[in-house]
Amino acid sequence: MPEGDTLRRLADMLAARFVGQEVVGNLFRHPRYSTSDFTGATLTSVDSRGKHLLMRFSNGYTVHVHLRMTGAVYPRFPREIRAHRRKFEIEMTDGWIVAVDIPILGIMRTKDERHAVGHLGPDICGHYDHDLAIQQLSSAGDVPISQAMLDQRVVAGFGNIYAVETPFITGINPNTFVSSLSNVEALLSIGVGLIRTNARRGPQNTTGRNIHLTNHWVLSSEIRRCKVCGSDLVKRSGRETAWTRRTSWCEQCQPLTNTEVDLTRAAKLLAGHPCRKIVDLKTGKLLVPVNEPVVAAALRTNEGGMKRSR
Ligand SMILES: [Zn+2]
Repeated sequence: MPEGDTLRRLADMLAARFVGQEVVGNLFRHPRYSTSDFTGATLTSVDSRGKHLLMRFSNGYTVHVHLRMTGAVYPRFPREIRAHRRKFEIEMTDGWIVAVDIPILGIMRTKDERHAVGHLGPDICGHYDHDLAIQQLSSAGDVPISQAMLDQRVVAGFGNIYAVETPFITGINPNTFVSSLSNVEALLSIGVGLIRTNARRGPQNTTGRNIHLTNHWVLSSEIRRCKVCGSDLVKRSGRETAWTRRTSWCEQCQPLTNTEVDLTRAAKLLAGHPCRKIVDLKTGKLLVPVNEPVVAAALRTNEGGMKRSR
């Protein structure tokens, strides 16, 4: 599921593979951009802002993509996918960038990117301003915490995994209003620690168990019982929540009456998770500066794992 961490890694992977290369030819299957021609332009940078992807070219234009739930961008030509699903195909000097099933595509002058991403709140996996994010999330008011975390204008990057798992880890019900929470900073810091750790490492792991794989406490549909107390979990579909995303919680561990972020519980549940290098689970504060974009570990060490991942 594409969230801020997935997009950060995708941007790093595309940049490592294609920045500096020229466009040999392109095809945009979009009524507005079908005549757009990037031939001869060089890809100068690839960046993510929250869940948005920005590919910048030397002709002064940016290709803007949002994957939502269905989209993907491939660093190769996926012949196995039918042409009508390939929304754009850009042939580079050495390889292809192909977008499939993307619901949002835009081409704009790079200087006008703000029209596409200017509404976003602090970008957790990018140049992140934690103080501003605390202030904006704390001001969300009478809004369920999961809904506020998913509002990209408040803070950009969290998707449903973190909006469901972080409340579970901290003993807060997803429906609890932000206005009634006593320590929004601690909850936010834990979410930030998780997503930035996962952006660097790869798997969307929120448990610290099977750390090299995707692993969750409550969100996955096959998890029926609470892994902490054994109670049956409450499951709600996207049609049953005010924020139209499925959710899950434990009535015993996350009663609506809990308004205090439970750091003792968080420390216990995240005992094996490397997010502890980023967030202090005794105080709920960040341990290290997080104002620079996360760099994917596989790329930083030249292991090449990202190139094989899709
Ligand atoms: Zn429980």
